[in-house]
Amino acid sequence: MKRRAKIVATLGPKSNQTAVLRRLLKVGVDVCRLNLSHGDHDWHRDAIRKVRKLAGEQNRQTAVLIDLMGPRYRLGTLEPRRLRKGETVTLGDKRERVDLPVKKAILTQLHPRDRVLLDNGLVELRVVRRRGGRVTAKVVSGGPVASHKGINLPDSALPFTISRKDHADIELAVAESADYIAASYVGQARDIHSLRRAVRKAGAEIPIVAKLERGQAIEHVDEIVVAADAVMVARGDLGVEVPLHRVPVLQKLIIDSGRRHGKPVIVATQMLESMMERPRPTRAESSDVANAVFDGADALMLSGETAAGDYPVEAVRTMARIVEEAESYARQRPHQDTTLATLAQSDLPHRIGFRDGPASTPETKGHEIADVVAASAVFAARNMPVRQIVAFSQGGFTARLIARYRPGAPIAVLTTAPAVARRMQLVWGVRPLVLADDVRTHEDVVHLIDRELLSARLARVGDAILILMGHPIAERPLTNLMRIHRVRK
Ligand code: PEP
Repeated sequence: MKRRAKIVATLGPKSNQTAVLRRLLKVGVDVCRLNLSHGDHDWHRDAIRKVRKLAGEQNRQTAVLIDLMGPRYRLGTLEPRRLRKGETVTLGDKRERVDLPVKKAILTQLHPRDRVLLDNGLVELRVVRRRGGRVTAKVVSGGPVASHKGINLPDSALPFTISRKDHADIELAVAESADYIAASYVGQARDIHSLRRAVRKAGAEIPIVAKLERGQAIEHVDEIVVAADAVMVARGDLGVEVPLHRVPVLQKLIIDSGRRHGKPVIVATQMLESMMERPRPTRAESSDVANAVFDGADALMLSGETAAGDYPVEAVRTMARIVEEAESYARQRPHQDTTLATLAQSDLPHRIGFRDGPASTPETKGHEIADVVAASAVFAARNMPVRQIVAFSQGGFTARLIARYRPGAPIAVLTTAPAVARRMQLVWGVRPLVLADDVRTHEDVVHLIDRELLSARLARVGDAILILMGHPIAERPLTNLMRIHRVRK
């Protein structure tokens, strides 16, 4: 595998045809995203099943990510009009005569001086007063408004809610065994906990990707990263909710937090936007993709480019090429080694943050040992020629720990669970392989690893590899063992 950062592609009307989807997987899509803000369940179910079928044909472990709409607010129905700077407008329930009809839930959150942003921030209002069920606001930046345009309230602490639609979408995700669920508009860790409870109630444990797109979420980045299984720098809404000039720095801060806590980070939105209409990206877009790689992102996401653009396959191919070039440059840079030193010095259970609580519990001790073994493997791979670092993993935890050190050596994760293999597609540099056989002993694992690596042509007889696993296997402990091994026939 040449490319280490992963590619997430959003499916839509331009990419759900079998022929296009087949090519998308072939040119390098690791995760298919379905945006539940659009389309109906029949459409999404059909797309998920196609992904499963085509991935099976190509022997790929492609993951499916269901992106929930979340508490997204929109204007009600109104005659299109242009708002002029300085004019005063009223917002209220649609039953009253107002300029801009909005839901009651929005009105109760608004206070004098709060900003109300319409249509991706193109129009800005500032609240003057709230009286009865009506809010008066002054137009700060004018522009056209029309029915159902999106509303962002960057100064309001809108509660995270799981709507009836979200519950139905979660049921779809559970029924179709989605690999990730993305949570829109989370503000703090407890929003992730409440979504996790809703998913559990629907009957499954599906890892949650927290989309960081609200100002409130930025104040709670670390606690959200700890509570979630992965995070997304959702630059579209983020660039509306916080000043645009902060977005590049926030991208770096969020990626750093993900690295410290061992959680994959996706950088999303407008990465190759111009490729919706053109077969080549702009210079700035090409640099944006490369810089996300230099920032240390695990995965880069395409939205409209693959969902509704004219060049979906070219967009993935272009992204893959830019990533490979950036990674080849980054590998030659000498400062790579500092990552290992900086991360390994951290007080681990806390930084990895899998559970709150005292560092001395057996559970956190297990995490600490697993991370020390992972760091040792990365250190060993820097100091001897190693063909692969191989994690035998029940849940993918060890693979995430290895990946956060960004080793030069390839990482393979072997698991008996296809769902775990698919989830690993979001993690930087990890190549998942599914073991069909059950394993009982340490020697079984070594033997199967040899067999799988040889048949996938990931190693040759005599190559040195590092194997990480939990011992004794029957007790399913976290990783506590590294073996330096030469591949045998
Ligand atoms: C974003 O805002 O960048 C994003 C990915 O979310 P959505 O596409 O759901 O608006």
